[in-house]
Amino acid sequence: MIGAKTMSSVKKKVIIIGGGTGGAMLANRLPRDEFEVTIIDRQPYNYFWPWLLYIAFRGSRRPIKREIRSVLKHWVNFIQSDVRVINLKDKYVELESGKRLDYDYVVIATGATVDYSRVPGLDKVTEMYGNYHSNEENAWRVWQTLNSMREGTLAVILAPGAYRCPPSPLEGTFLAEEFFRRRGLRDKVRIVFATFYPRPYPAEPINELIEPLLKERGIDYITFYTLDHIDPEKRVAYSMEGEELKFDAAIVIPPHVGVDIKYVPDDVLDSDRFVQADKFTNMIKGFDDAFVIGDASALPVAKTGVTAHLQADVVARILQGEDAHNTGRTNCPFDVGYGLGTFVISDFNNSTIKYPINRINHLFKVAFAAAYWDIILYPELWDSIFEAYFEATEPAKLRYLYR
Ligand SMILES: Cc1cc2nc3c(=O)[nH]c(=O)nc-3n(C[C@H](O)[C@H](O)[C@H](O)COP(=O)(O)OP(=O)(O)OC[C@H]3O[C@@H](n4cnc5c(N)ncnc54)[C@H](O)[C@@H]3O)c2cc1C
Repeated sequence: MIGAKTMSSVKKKVIIIGGGTGGAMLANRLPRDEFEVTIIDRQPYNYFWPWLLYIAFRGSRRPIKREIRSVLKHWVNFIQSDVRVINLKDKYVELESGKRLDYDYVVIATGATVDYSRVPGLDKVTEMYGNYHSNEENAWRVWQTLNSMREGTLAVILAPGAYRCPPSPLEGTFLAEEFFRRRGLRDKVRIVFATFYPRPYPAEPINELIEPLLKERGIDYITFYTLDHIDPEKRVAYSMEGEELKFDAAIVIPPHVGVDIKYVPDDVLDSDRFVQADKFTNMIKGFDDAFVIGDASALPVAKTGVTAHLQADVVARILQGEDAHNTGRTNCPFDVGYGLGTFVISDFNNSTIKYPINRINHLFKVAFAAAYWDIILYPELWDSIFEAYFEATEPAKLRYLYR
């Protein structure tokens, strides 16, 4: 008994705030004989957010959430509570009840949230037509919007600012096009994609595949279009550049920001409330016992589940004393409709690869969705598969194959 007590007293206390993709993946990777791990989340579910796309554009009714408790190893503690304060100086987190929990290590995995207030009119437009970057209800509203349209202009607008999953704005656009074509309404519904970037997809090699596809499918697009405000009554979206986009329905990818938590010190946050950290180790600047992973970070990497997954792995290794670091690997599936897809693949040393569009890539996306919670719960089974995949698709190797 004494031995057991001694063992547990030397365990490092790790608090992970957020039981989403990154937080749950990290918790299940930390050996129970070395760490006492507690996840705190404000709500009880782990969400598979990528499926919002298929609720919105395919009318999928597949469940996208599971209880956080059910995707954690049984030795990981789970507390359902809002975290109000993270005090990095005095090493505690404060719950909504006022209770304070101290830690040896804290990992912030609180994701990103949408901020409608940055675009006047956006809250009303969301109420009218939905969006697929916030919740199931809004995604379902997009599906209803599509089903109610018989003619007119559908605008898909990428608002300026951070957003989750770089391909997702164009994925929605392509799936909307497929929807109307299959319904026999394509010649009656004009589809316009508007973006603040200089080209439809920001990374040029992928854009070389995407822009011709938009043209081939008769999808109009407007670049350098920085959404300023929307008049929901007149159904016009105005850009900062002075352009007026008239629509019959508009689906806007809203600006994303970090969640509302008080930090001490607060200068670890950037102006969008994302947490600043070292891009190789995810360590919060000035604190070697605090990390941020996934969408909550201000790092110059895509806000994707794959990024959160890889960062969780690196932080788990660092906490176990390894000299691990991120490569900045991005590996985002890109559904271009009609059962076809590509991947956005890059890392800190290699710009995006012109990865070909084919059916296998789409299959990978669907297969990953089917295995998502299994991958979270059993890293010991899945890690070797991912290692092999990431090694085979290293950007440095691929760039010689695809130019
Ligand atoms: C339409 C769409 C398509 C996407 N497609 C893909 C894709 O194909 N591939 C891909 O890799 N990624 C994709 N993503 C992105 C992916 O879903 C996210 O990048 C991923 O979920 C990020 O994980 P996370 O752990 O950082 O945040 P989340 O999974 O969002 O988890 C954050 C958790 O923190 C909790 N939390 C927040 N604030 C508090 C608080 N104050 N106190 C306690 N808990 C709190 C939340 O409740 C939540 O459970 C897509 C996203 C969208 C919206």
